[in-house]
Amino acid sequence: MEYFLNEQQKMIKSLARRIAEEKILPVRAELDEKEEFPWAIMKDLADADMFRVFIPEEYEGLGGGCLELCLVTEELSRACSGVAISYAASALGSFLLLEYGSEEQKRKYLPDIASGKRLAAFALTESTAGSDASAIRTTAERERGGYVINGTKQFITNGGEAEIYTVIALTDKTRGPRGASAFLIEKDTPGFSFGKKERKMGIRASSTRELIFRNCLVPEENMIGREGMGFIMTMRLLDKSRPGVGAQAVGLAQGALEAAVDYARNRVQFGHPIISLQAVQLMLADMAIQVEAARLLVYAAARTIDNGAKKFTEESAMAKVFASDTAMKVTTDAVQIFGGVGYMKDYPIEKMMRDAKITQIYEGSNQALRTAIASELRKRKGMQE
Ligand SMILES: Cc1cc2nc3c(=O)[nH]c(=O)nc-3n(C[C@H](O)[C@H](O)[C@H](O)COP(=O)(O)OP(=O)(O)OC[C@H]3O[C@@H](n4cnc5c(N)ncnc54)[C@H](O)[C@@H]3O)c2cc1C
Repeated sequence: MEYFLNEQQKMIKSLARRIAEEKILPVRAELDEKEEFPWAIMKDLADADMFRVFIPEEYEGLGGGCLELCLVTEELSRACSGVAISYAASALGSFLLLEYGSEEQKRKYLPDIASGKRLAAFALTESTAGSDASAIRTTAERERGGYVINGTKQFITNGGEAEIYTVIALTDKTRGPRGASAFLIEKDTPGFSFGKKERKMGIRASSTRELIFRNCLVPEENMIGREGMGFIMTMRLLDKSRPGVGAQAVGLAQGALEAAVDYARNRVQFGHPIISLQAVQLMLADMAIQVEAARLLVYAAARTIDNGAKKFTEESAMAKVFASDTAMKVTTDAVQIFGGVGYMKDYPIEKMMRDAKITQIYEGSNQALRTAIASELRKRKGMQE
């Protein structure tokens, strides 16, 4: 398939693939087994300027957009989704700063994120607030020349490893969704600590932790955007970041498809490689069709965003939902093609199936996103151009 990538995009994609094959493949099983954060690989990615990809040139980035970020995430995820999401979560943690940060904030934080010296993270979810983000309870009260943050965030990717956190908290509890604001909080701020590291089914190389804020004083200048705009900015941020989850899913599905083809060529039953069985061929063909379709939808959504579309909620949700459902289906079918050994930890395929599940859950569950797509459809009148 021709994806019409420009020279720089092709270069970024092939560099990410090289890092994935040389640095991630040899250690992915161990990282998964030990639930170990991939610091050495983060350093390799930093050395190869991969964190610069999603940062504008004026802040020491390469000036790429959503598509470039998707290309890197996809290639890393083809080898290990846990590593890919550790990388992509730093972009997620930077998005509000990129879009709504002041010049001073951008100059202070973005060059370090671009160089990979410091990782970022984004913190919205709480025990009472998952799909219903408006139910957050973390508060930010104006006091002592800044804001005092109190509350606990749950399931935060890069929690404990990142040094820069974008945190959504209520500045006015009486105003509901209009009462939330966004803050930049650095790791060593007094009153900010970490809770337990979650033990997960998949993406086990990534770190997922609680963030605990107890009378944590954040300077006024660390608010991103205007007071009360936290949810509106977050909804826009998630519209922008969802193709990235789609890319994670596409990479996973591609990796599983390649592994399944390879295995089917070599596994002999009834005197022939199983790839000569029509039942296996039809499964592989369907897997390949689904991966291509998912990739095209993800790239199209990313290009829609990069080309300056004003609204892209539907495109972005569709790409994430379709790609993640594809990853779940393709990795499950890949395990089936591997047969009994597919169920064993000696082969990478069971890990891919475990890793795929989360792409249907985070950054908007697929059910919640289908509901959002349907609600956009209900608003439409007449035929679409
Ligand atoms: C590994 C991992 C990493 C994460 N990383 C981050 C992070 O970095 N930052 C962060 O802020 N959060 C993060 N999250 C949180 C994640 O985004 C939420 O888990 C997700 O939004 C779902 O929320 P929930 O788990 O509370 O499920 P719930 O909202 O309780 O959903 C439970 C079920 O109800 C369904 N449901 C809920 N609402 C609707 C609806 N409106 N329509 C249809 N169905 C609905 C869901 O689809 C699901 O099946 C992470 C989660 C995990 C597991």
